[in-house]
Amino acid sequence: MNNFQLTRAATIADAVRAGGESQTSQQGAQVRFIAGGTTLLDLMKLDVENPGLLVDINRLPLGQIEPQGDGGIKIGALTRNSDVAQHPAVKRDYSVLSQALLSGASPQLRNMATTGGNLLQRTRCIYFRDTAYPCNKRKPGSGCAAIGGYNRMLAILGTSEHCIASNPSDQNVALVALEATIDVHGTKGQRVVPIHDFFLVPGSTPERENVLEPGDLITHVRLPKLPENTQSYYLKLRDRAAYEFALVSAAVVITQQGGRIRRARVALGGVGTKPWRSPEAESALEGRAAGEDVFRSAARDALTGARPASGNGFKVELAQRCLMRTLKLATQNT
Ligand code: SF4
Repeated sequence: MNNFQLTRAATIADAVRAGGESQTSQQGAQVRFIAGGTTLLDLMKLDVENPGLLVDINRLPLGQIEPQGDGGIKIGALTRNSDVAQHPAVKRDYSVLSQALLSGASPQLRNMATTGGNLLQRTRCIYFRDTAYPCNKRKPGSGCAAIGGYNRMLAILGTSEHCIASNPSDQNVALVALEATIDVHGTKGQRVVPIHDFFLVPGSTPERENVLEPGDLITHVRLPKLPENTQSYYLKLRDRAAYEFALVSAAVVITQQGGRIRRARVALGGVGTKPWRSPEAESALEGRAAGEDVFRSAARDALTGARPASGNGFKVELAQRCLMRTLKLATQNT
């Protein structure tokens, strides 16, 4: 691990200023905000991340979950994953998020990992985490060892000839299905980013994973109020029952009325280079009565754009089956 400087931010303005000013004063030295550190410290030990400055944001007042006037909730970026998962309002109204969080990592990691940090979770591609191999995401222009190598865990949707890394987060799949928005404070002011605009597919710049600019600080995630008669569910399929990343996962948020699906939000995990929303599946569901044939049609449509690599073609059928099962579980008690 390289030497680095550490500073503690007392206010959001301090944190943004430290991020922005240090970015210029250190001739481009990387600056990283650190909270739980469950991803960043690993990557620093592996020499994948080499920030010149860490800005500790743990003292900022961003650890609360608050109800909003419109019936939604606002989750502070420093709220620990375990606290979000067990919060009564989350368990009652956004069970898909609670389920997703509880399916991730281990209790110890969930006690440290934060909402904002989870949004920035990096891929588990083994070549990204091993500096002996070429990796366009870690070192732009160096090549991609995974495309002709071991790619069983990697993406089949949203890939490019430069990178096929999958996004490993469970939380983010649920947040996509819930149509979360993200509050960002940056050197140019505050803005709100809808989650479907937050993540980027790799294209020719896989090192760029989201729309954040240097110095941008995530402060909150907001979940909108869901319509009456809405059910949600998260299902994760993996090689072992705990402490494992998803081979595939699905998050669904379904509103039924008069025996039909009035509104459907569908997102897939483990298969996309970003948490993968499927408008194709949503269109196949809306206006129809819940049932196996409709679920099968939606699952097929969700994977029509899949482009498997040499070792992960099995994910196409596995993701279809996962989505069908998730839809069944979400709708069977309504
Ligand atoms: Fe790197 Fe992406 Fe290729 Fe993995 S898939 S080696 S992260 S460029």
